[in-house]
Amino acid sequence: MSHHAFREPGDPLELEVDWIVVGSGAGGASAAVALARGGARVAVVEAGAWRDPEHYPSSAYGGARDLMPAFGGLATAGRAQWPVVQGEAVGGTTVINSAICVRTPGDVFVRWAAEHGVGGGPMAERIGAIQDALEVELHASRATGRAVGRSDVLALRGAAALGYDSHPTRRFVEDCAGSGQCLQGCRAGRKQSLNLNFIPETLERGGVVLSCAPVARIVLEGNRAAGVRGRFRHPRTRRAGASFQVRARHGVFVAASAIQSPLLLRRSGIRNRSLGRQFHAHPGTGLFGWYDDPVDMHIGATQGWSSLAHRDTGGFKLESLSIPLELVAGRLKGGGAVLAERLEDFRHLAMWVMAVKAESVGSIHPGPLGPLVRYTLDRADMVKMRTAAVLLAQTHFAAGARWVIPGIHGLPYKIDADALHTIEDAPLDPRAWVAVLSHLFGGCPMGADPARSVCDGEGRVHGHQGLWIADASQIPTNLGVNPQHTIMALARLRAETALSRATP
Ligand SMILES: Cc1cc2nc3c(=O)[nH]c(=O)nc-3n(C[C@H](O)[C@H](O)[C@H](O)COP(=O)(O)OP(=O)(O)OC[C@H]3O[C@@H](n4cnc5c(N)ncnc54)[C@H](O)[C@@H]3O)c2cc1C
Ligand code: SF4
Repeated sequence: MSHHAFREPGDPLELEVDWIVVGSGAGGASAAVALARGGARVAVVEAGAWRDPEHYPSSAYGGARDLMPAFGGLATAGRAQWPVVQGEAVGGTTVINSAICVRTPGDVFVRWAAEHGVGGGPMAERIGAIQDALEVELHASRATGRAVGRSDVLALRGAAALGYDSHPTRRFVEDCAGSGQCLQGCRAGRKQSLNLNFIPETLERGGVVLSCAPVARIVLEGNRAAGVRGRFRHPRTRRAGASFQVRARHGVFVAASAIQSPLLLRRSGIRNRSLGRQFHAHPGTGLFGWYDDPVDMHIGATQGWSSLAHRDTGGFKLESLSIPLELVAGRLKGGGAVLAERLEDFRHLAMWVMAVKAESVGSIHPGPLGPLVRYTLDRADMVKMRTAAVLLAQTHFAAGARWVIPGIHGLPYKIDADALHTIEDAPLDPRAWVAVLSHLFGGCPMGADPARSVCDGEGRVHGHQGLWIADASQIPTNLGVNPQHTIMALARLRAETALSRATP
């Protein structure tokens, strides 16, 4: 087992392997283990630290400090400044996500083929077979027992009363303890974040992991990716440590996320007009329902209820979301004694959210303080968000909520069922909404035409050898479903293709 964590300045670390994988999240860890299973020696180079479940933080504050880049401070530069949430740790965003497992819908492959000349039936078939295997390996199962909290039971009841389809959520979790803490890492070790399975397996198969090791550049020899280099970075103080240089006999997989992969390619000297383009997301926000009896949304799975009933017709997905008191405080209006009094309602609140299948397109650029994410929802997408908000409020009322707290600027703090029209008439200006981006796509989009894409339908960067994209940045459209399953399957497909092409 070979894991290199932060190193004090001094002698550089130098290694040579068959393949390098930059980033260890949904895409990176999946590519790495597939390469290792194929007999290759793999180095996973990850900017974040390695943390085991017993070292996960026990607060949302600690989650931002220990498991997210820049303290979770990245926000969109657009009409509204909405947080862009990502993980930074061995395991990437899978450490802080809810592990919701949804297969890639068939229409996605059809759209990729029609609009980007890649994908189609053959890819759908191969991704489907890989997803079958991933579901077994990562214990995909529907929430049951302790994982279905009262918030989820109420949501199921409300949806049934309104006549739309919804279910306890299917997730990559084995025997959930219902602690509602997925977003700061599952301290019970039940969630199948990829630092607990694919990364250790990569090590057992002779691989090596560098953590606290942000890659500064991909080393190019002519048009061939020959390695990576950078300096170790202290996980707390962020000070620079020793330098590292890893050489790759066969090539480099880039899986540093939709935000970071295009920036890494750009600063490595790769010139392509599509770098940082075709950025998509599923922005979302939530509404609280206030119930007479305690809901205790912190008991149960973090996201134990979901509905895909409106994906195709309304352009959104609905989910429950349990958030801790400190994040609730950030969502309720007011300060001082007013806020303290409102927080006393915590046990009576249930939060349900929407993820909008947004068609608005943004772009990623290097900025003075880090990534610059230009992104604004257009009117059509804002209508979807508002329609979803109305439906969430109706679902709360159908489940017995006395009030709904919409959290939309210009609306009353709380409304009853007779005031539903205030949400129906809510402003469509994004600045009135407190949304978050957590499902991110594009930046290194795949496509058949090198003038409109960064990589081809197999994930190879146009015009380069041994350089592959294996994360969400290759996805050229939204999906309308939670993306981890699609990203993992695409990454495994890329790795298997690369192995079949590599010369011994
Ligand atoms: C709060 C939250 C909840 C979510 N819930 C779900 C869910 O329930 N189901 C679902 O399907 N999806 C969910 N998602 C989305 C899903 O987790 C992501 O889409 C997915 O993890 C993205 O995979 P990725 O490989 O592209 O990037 P990531 O998983 O983000 O991994 C990228 C990795 O690259 C590293 N990195 C970045 N730059 C460098 C560099 N220069 N050098 C080395 N390493 C670098 C990062 O530190 C990170 O570890 C959620 C996301 C969030 C934020
Ligand atoms: S709800 Fe708690 S026990 Fe269940 S997967 Fe999430 S963090 Fe782990």
